[in-house]
Amino acid sequence: MNTGENILITGGAGFIGSHVVRRFINSDKYKVISLDKLTYAGNLENLRDIENEPNYEFVKGDICDFDFINDLFKDYDFQGVIHLAAESHVDRSISNPMEFIQTNVVGTVSLLNAAKEAWRGKESRRFYHVSTDEVYGSLGEDGLFTETTPYDPKSPYSASKASSDHFVRAYGNTYDLPYIISNCSNNYGPNHFPEKLIPLMIHNIRNKKPLPVYGKGENIRDWLYVEDHARAIELIFEKGQNGETYNIGGFNEWKNIDLVHLLCDVMDRKLGNEAGTSRKLITFVKDRAGHDMRYAIDASKLNSELGWEPSLQFEEGLEKTVDWYFDNEQWLNDVTSGDYLKYYDEHYTNR
Ligand code: NAD
Repeated sequence: MNTGENILITGGAGFIGSHVVRRFINSDKYKVISLDKLTYAGNLENLRDIENEPNYEFVKGDICDFDFINDLFKDYDFQGVIHLAAESHVDRSISNPMEFIQTNVVGTVSLLNAAKEAWRGKESRRFYHVSTDEVYGSLGEDGLFTETTPYDPKSPYSASKASSDHFVRAYGNTYDLPYIISNCSNNYGPNHFPEKLIPLMIHNIRNKKPLPVYGKGENIRDWLYVEDHARAIELIFEKGQNGETYNIGGFNEWKNIDLVHLLCDVMDRKLGNEAGTSRKLITFVKDRAGHDMRYAIDASKLNSELGWEPSLQFEEGLEKTVDWYFDNEQWLNDVTSGDYLKYYDEHYTNR
């Protein structure tokens, strides 16, 4: 990839996408075109600090709109794509699976098809699909997901992501489309929409609201600080091998209830509460339908081939995350009130 070349990052206004966009902008090697539909999960305030950078351009649009996507590929001659746009919340996929099939499957194929057409006969291009460890299904007490673990998705969200992974490989196999896939564990950190576990708990503790924990809180997830994921994505995009899959994880498994206890203790300390105050807000609620018991990632391939490892211990990352939410109260208020949805109209429509 040469300096200054156009790359497309989809879902750039979302949680992980915003960190990836900022990382690529700051590296100064590329012109980044960030494409986002700005659904409820897309928030341009996440990118306020870089919106005037000369190597950044935001385009509002839907990855499912074939004609629009084809034109975009013609207009910009992308050297690479990093595809993060998706519907990402498991609970929403249970209540509205069709939206997940549309965005995650049809949207991904729309991008693949545009890349196939635009990149015909051209070399050194790369389609990087950002995916999840949830495609592998659920683990028992032992074992880790490796890159060769058979797919066994259990929720409409993970089934839609698994399907999109299959389409990426199928385009690679059938049309020689140069691709890379990574499957990552649960992310946490700044800009995380407060429907997800960690920001939801932070928000509710601040507002002395109940802390809903599914079932008995026994489910286990591996957690990775979002900037470590963004760093892995940059490394894989630049140094990974086409046709390969890389697992990304934090080597950091937590039972949900233990995580919530830890977060309560961090919050009590920050808020000057008596020890144990926030734990009293924990409320066990009916378990999520088909709730996977345990995810755990073996990220040793990424470590041995590309030298990546997480930079933060979980306690440190959690502390940074809590501090960020304390320092960015307006961001959280805008998200919970819906005001962030006005950002595009106020900052972009009259440019
Ligand atoms: P997110 O929900 O915060 O962001 C998704 C972004 O995609 C939003 O900005 C949204 O507006 C945009 N989008 C949705 N539909 C679109 C469409 N049709 N056209 C254009 N843009 C659209 O999600 P996230 O947590 O940042 O996840 C990003 C990617 O990483 C997803 O593909 C997800 O599957 C994957 N992933 C997430 C995690 C995690 O823990 N959050 C872990 C592993 C992998």
